[in-house]
Amino acid sequence: MTRQPNRTRMFHRDLRKSYPEAQEGQGAYILDTTGKQYLDASGGAAVSCLGHGHPKILEAVKAQLDRMAFAHTAFFTNSPAETLAETLSRKAPGGDWRVYFLSGGSEANETALKLARQIQRERGQDTRDHFLSRRFSYHGNTLGALSVSGSVGRRAAFEPILLPKVRHVEPCFAYRHQGEDETAKAYGERAAASLQTEVGALGDERAIAFIAETVVGATLGAVPPVPGYFKEIRRICDEHGMLMILDEVMSGMGRTGTLFACEQDGVVPDMISLAKGLGAGYQPIGAVLVREELADEIEHGSGSFLSGHTYIGHATACAGALAVQQVFEEDGLVARVADMGEKLQQALEARFADHPHIGDIRGRGLFRGVELVAAREHKTPFPATAGLAGRIKTHAMENGLICYPSQGTADGVNGDHVLIAPPFIITDDQVGELTDKLARSVDAAITEVEP
Ligand code: PLP
Repeated sequence: MTRQPNRTRMFHRDLRKSYPEAQEGQGAYILDTTGKQYLDASGGAAVSCLGHGHPKILEAVKAQLDRMAFAHTAFFTNSPAETLAETLSRKAPGGDWRVYFLSGGSEANETALKLARQIQRERGQDTRDHFLSRRFSYHGNTLGALSVSGSVGRRAAFEPILLPKVRHVEPCFAYRHQGEDETAKAYGERAAASLQTEVGALGDERAIAFIAETVVGATLGAVPPVPGYFKEIRRICDEHGMLMILDEVMSGMGRTGTLFACEQDGVVPDMISLAKGLGAGYQPIGAVLVREELADEIEHGSGSFLSGHTYIGHATACAGALAVQQVFEEDGLVARVADMGEKLQQALEARFADHPHIGDIRGRGLFRGVELVAAREHKTPFPATAGLAGRIKTHAMENGLICYPSQGTADGVNGDHVLIAPPFIITDDQVGELTDKLARSVDAAITEVEP
């Protein structure tokens, strides 16, 4: 069944569109009410890392519901939350962490920003009142998280009511910004220097924190940093007394082939925000990991974090997320991501390397992106009016493929792209099905917009 706009009481994001009704999830597939199968090659938006209907997660969630669904953390702690926090702290790079659980990614980033401000205040650095982040980024849709997001399109309607004390610096985007004769190392230093310049212009003791996605997801389409970039960012943050927050809401939890994406960059940030793959879609859950020494500063200072939400440490959400971690371990899934990610990259290259309208194929692990261009030699984007991303999505759904196309940036600097984030259980055959269906959908959309 397809729900027509005038036959639904749901407030869908796009009020003029019709949506098929999803009824069942089976492994890498979602089935609608007509029985049509869709290969879920983007996990919605990098959420469903274990695919659908995983028996061990269902069992863990049901068992927790039978015991106790929820107990407010103002009164109690609970075992799934404690064990999950222990597990994440043990697995995160660089020592001990404290974990603050939330309900999603925006809340996680919102909380990281507030934590950073409070830590600076505990240090007597009350003059610090600015956040720094990057252009073309996305950190969430609550007002604070949107304020640090650099995506012009997502900010536009709300610009006048966003936090004013935010400065945006250049991203690290090799395909578009690395010079032809420039080494990756030199480019990484140049990209990071943009932060140095901005924080210098801001003046001493004004910056609270810098936030960035380890691998840029929704806005640019799986853009990894060049080697060395984040080490330089870490150095600049330390030099200026800014905290470093890495947003791994999309890129974390094994998606890139290591549990935390930043492990591959050899850096330890001060905070890491997580969501999506943490609950794998079985439960809505997010988290902020904060380095133990920083949590200690609050403990030995005012004693409590001056923020909170009703569903912090929700027992059922944590039980689901804990089971996700157990399945990762038992099935060696993070190593599998690295392996299948290489196969996916090769399959995409085999299909698209000579395609006249695919400018770049990139990413890490099972987090990949292809960028579409009107002309490859000049990397010219298709005009926004062509609506290419939307057309790809429509054709993909017709072809039984869920992928995540997005329009290029509003300023026309980069092209439309398709984000691909399949479940970690994807098979070789399904990689073939994914690339076939994607190629057909991309070609059908391009045929409609080519003059
Ligand atoms: N941060 C990143 C990098 C994201 O990709 C997203 C969502 O797409 C968010 C934050 C916001 O998360 P949520 O939609 O769970 O609020």
